[in-house]
Amino acid sequence: MSYLRIETKCVQGGYTPGNGEPRQIPIIQSTTFKYATSEDMGKLFDLEAEGYFYTRLQNPTNDAVARKICELEGGTAAMLTSSGQAASFYSVFNIASCGDHVVSSSTIYGGTYNLFAVTMKRMGIEFTFVEPDCSDEELEAAFRPNTKAVFGETIANPALNVFDIERFAKAAHAHGVPLIVDNTFATPVNCRPFEWGADIVTHSTTKYMDGHGAGVGGCIVDSGKFDWTKYPDKFPGLCTPDDSYHGVTYTERFGLEGAFITKATAQLMRDFGSIQSPQNAFLLNLGLESLHVRMARHCENGLAVAKFLQSSDKVDWVKYPSLEGDKSYELAQKYLPKGSCGVVSFGLKGGRAAAETFMKNLKIAAIETHVADARTCCLHPASATHRQMNDEELAAAGVPANLVRFSCGLESAEDLIEDIAQALEKVAD
Ligand SMILES: *Cc1c(COP(=O)(O)O)cnc(C)c1O
Repeated sequence: MSYLRIETKCVQGGYTPGNGEPRQIPIIQSTTFKYATSEDMGKLFDLEAEGYFYTRLQNPTNDAVARKICELEGGTAAMLTSSGQAASFYSVFNIASCGDHVVSSSTIYGGTYNLFAVTMKRMGIEFTFVEPDCSDEELEAAFRPNTKAVFGETIANPALNVFDIERFAKAAHAHGVPLIVDNTFATPVNCRPFEWGADIVTHSTTKYMDGHGAGVGGCIVDSGKFDWTKYPDKFPGLCTPDDSYHGVTYTERFGLEGAFITKATAQLMRDFGSIQSPQNAFLLNLGLESLHVRMARHCENGLAVAKFLQSSDKVDWVKYPSLEGDKSYELAQKYLPKGSCGVVSFGLKGGRAAAETFMKNLKIAAIETHVADARTCCLHPASATHRQMNDEELAAAGVPANLVRFSCGLESAEDLIEDIAQALEKVAD
C-alpha cells in the first residue's frame, strides 16, 4: 500500500482480510504450528518455504503489525521485538561483532547509551560518541577501518535535539557503512528517516506507537537500500554463508530488501529470543490505528505548553525543537515540518527545590518514568532516574538539577497550562 497516504496506512496498513475473514488482525496466541509431513516443516527450517513453525522466530500477528510499521516508514522488511532496547541491540549486533566499532551520537536515550557504552563494550564492540553538532573534522575523525555503523535519534530522549539525518547519512555512506536511526519520538507520522538517507530505523513502540502505556515493545525496519554486497569484507555475516543456518547467504537468497531482517530473525531472534507477544502486538496495532491523529494533538499540546513555560518568570529555560529560537529549530523545520513530539523539557529558576515543589503540586500531570503517553506525565530526573548524582555531575551529564521533563498527553492544552500555572504559583519567587 505504498501509494497511500500515511493516515490511511496507520489505519489499514499491514493486514488485508480475505472474504469472510476477521476485520481486526487476529491474535494468533499459539507457540507452534502444525504440519502434515516432516518434509513440509523441513522446508521452513531451510528457509526454502515461507510459513510459521515456532513463535520465537515468527508469528502471523506480529508479522502483520511489523508490516504496517514497515509501510509507515517506507521500508522493505521489518520485525517486532520485545522492547526498544532489544531493537537497538539487534540493529547494531546484526552487523557488528567483537572487534568492531560504531559511531554514535552522544545525545541518545540513557538505556541505549548504557547498552552501547557498557554492555556491548563487554562484548568487544567499541563505540565513539560524537556531539550531534560536532564539526566535519570531528565526525570524520570518529571513523575507523573497523567501523560498521553510525547511530542517532531523530529527536533525542531526553536532550530533545534534532539529529541531522542527511549529514550523518552522507558521512556513514562515504565510509561504506549504514546509518541506523532511532525514530521513536518523531514516529513515521512526523519524520521518515529513509527519505533523508537513513538505512535502518528502530523504534521503542512502548512510546507513541502504543501510545497508551499498555505494552513494552520495539521494531526494526530496513530500507533495503544499503548495498552490503559492495563491502563483503565489512559485512561477512550478510555476504557469506551462515554455517549456523544451513549455509544460507542472506544477500543472495533474500536480496538487499530482505537480507538484514531475515538474518536478524534467523540468527538473533533464534538465539536471544526477544520476541513481542502476539497479544502485545495486537495492542500495539490498536495504537497505530490512531497514531496520526494522536501525534498531531501531542505536538499541538507540546507547543502550547512550551510557549506558556517560556512566558513564565519562574522558568529559566525551555527546550522544545518546534519552539522558535530553539537550538534545534532550523533542523526541526527541515525534518519535522508537521511538528516534533509532545515532550518539553525546562529548567526552573529556583533550582532543585523549585523543581520538587512544582512537581509535588501538579494535579493532572502524574509523576512517572515514562514519556509519550496519552496521559500527561512528568519527571524530575535529579530526584528520580539520576538521583545518585550530585548537582555538578548532573550538570556535566546535561541533566541539570532544575530540569523537569514534561510529556504532554492528549488532554486539553488549557487544562495542562492551568495545572502548570497553579503549580508554578506554589514555587517561591
Ligand atoms: C524508551 C526508549 C528506548 C528503549 O525502549 P524500551 O521499549 O523501553 O526498551 C529506546 N529509544 C528511545 C528513544 C526511547 O525513548
